[in-house]
Amino acid sequence: MSYTAQPNQSEKNQANTWQNIQKQLLEIYGQDVYRSWIQNIIFLKTTFNTLVLSVKTRFIRDWIVAHYVDKILNLYKKFDIKISRIEFQISEKTEIKPIKNNIIDFDKKTYSLSGNYGLSKIDEKLNFDNFVVGKSNELAFTAAKKVIENLNKYNPLYIYGGVGLGKTHLLNAVGNKLLSTIDKVIYVSAERFMYQFVRSIKNNDVVKFKDIFRSAKVLLIDDIQFVSGKDVTQEEFFHTFNALIESNSQIILSSDRAPNDLDRIQDRIKSRLSGGLVVDIQSPDYEQRVQIIKQRCLKDLHSFDKNNFIEEEVIDFLAAESKLTVREMLGSFNRLVAHASINQKKITTIEARHVLKDYLNKIQTNLTIEDIQKTVVSYYDISMHDFMSSRRSRMVARPRQIAMYLSKKLTTKSLPEIGRKFSGRDHTTVIHAIKKIEELISKDKIFENEIRDLNSKLIYQNNNGVKV
Ligand code: ADP
Ligand code: MG
Repeated sequence: MSYTAQPNQSEKNQANTWQNIQKQLLEIYGQDVYRSWIQNIIFLKTTFNTLVLSVKTRFIRDWIVAHYVDKILNLYKKFDIKISRIEFQISEKTEIKPIKNNIIDFDKKTYSLSGNYGLSKIDEKLNFDNFVVGKSNELAFTAAKKVIENLNKYNPLYIYGGVGLGKTHLLNAVGNKLLSTIDKVIYVSAERFMYQFVRSIKNNDVVKFKDIFRSAKVLLIDDIQFVSGKDVTQEEFFHTFNALIESNSQIILSSDRAPNDLDRIQDRIKSRLSGGLVVDIQSPDYEQRVQIIKQRCLKDLHSFDKNNFIEEEVIDFLAAESKLTVREMLGSFNRLVAHASINQKKITTIEARHVLKDYLNKIQTNLTIEDIQKTVVSYYDISMHDFMSSRRSRMVARPRQIAMYLSKKLTTKSLPEIGRKFSGRDHTTVIHAIKKIEELISKDKIFENEIRDLNSKLIYQNNNGVKV
């Protein structure tokens, strides 16, 4: 056997692949998770079926294994099908890239309490002026306003809701408002809180860590679902929490789920979290989504750009793409504007679909044909057996066609693959089904609504299914 010492192309490719995956993880989990856990993972190599990564501490490894390793593996598999496991090496030497942290700069060893460290971390762009209020978030909005007017009225205020529905925005809006009158406002994500706490243990800085948080007059903690794991960190979180409530400091928390559904958090902490007021944010309806786009995006565009580049119908199209979260919807809009101005070309709905094609598909890849079949079967209240059979009566044939249509629309499977999943039907049957359904959608408003309804059901399930 001969070994070659030259770094080969595939090693370079692998490094690129890893960068690409890090980028995707950034998109999926956001800046904060990325900075705390993902950014400093070092790609070492792949050997046979194993992806070998390096991180700095056991704690970081355990955390990644508990929260992100499945996702990492799935993403990597898309590039290299052979990979079926991930191995972590612990290396103190792992170079830590400077973490540009606009929250609290813990990396500076000076935990100066005199500086207004609360100020820099709250995002000024997320305020009440550009927060669109509608049925979906009225309750949370009103509660937040009440808290501002009257600290301690609801303590803690616990706001929960799905991904991209404006929780971080609302927390920052509260922070911005209060900063004008109070200087000890701290905004921190639970991820950061945990990470910094563990770091402070390592650096023998726990006392300072506690001092900082316990000095807060208002503490805004984002994504509380991430508080979990080692008892000692939960313990510290709990003590900080109690200390603040006892000293009449206001706490506002956000989470992707209700207090009772926090699965890794101790019961007594849960009950403390629900001790004030708990409100939820729902998905905005179509009108509210249109308003959010107009409020968040159009304002920033020059009127020249507006008229020349984006057809009004494109806004409707994005708002109606209910599988896009608000965040994705806004991101898509910005993508379209960029595309239009680079190509100096007006964007119509057809163009928009085309430009966003990969993006729209990517979001849907977690949905399987089986998921779609199950949902359609239960929607039309027919039996799976009949559905899969060769019966041609309208009652089962139509739902079957709908499921085929949705499989094409919502998964990346090819026509033959779809056919196979429907008891080995031919791909021409699938094509026929898609045509038929498209025709019905264009002719029949009620039918169109039915399909849209199914579509959102599936996307909703899917989104919930992939939640961290
Ligand atoms: P979450 O923290 O709930 O996941 P974010 O607060 O980060 O969601 O919201 C995602 C994006 O959508 C942000 O750009 C935010 O400003 C925007 N957004 C969400 N809801 C609204 C709203 N009601 N009005 C204006 N912008 C919103
Ligand atoms: Mg958030």
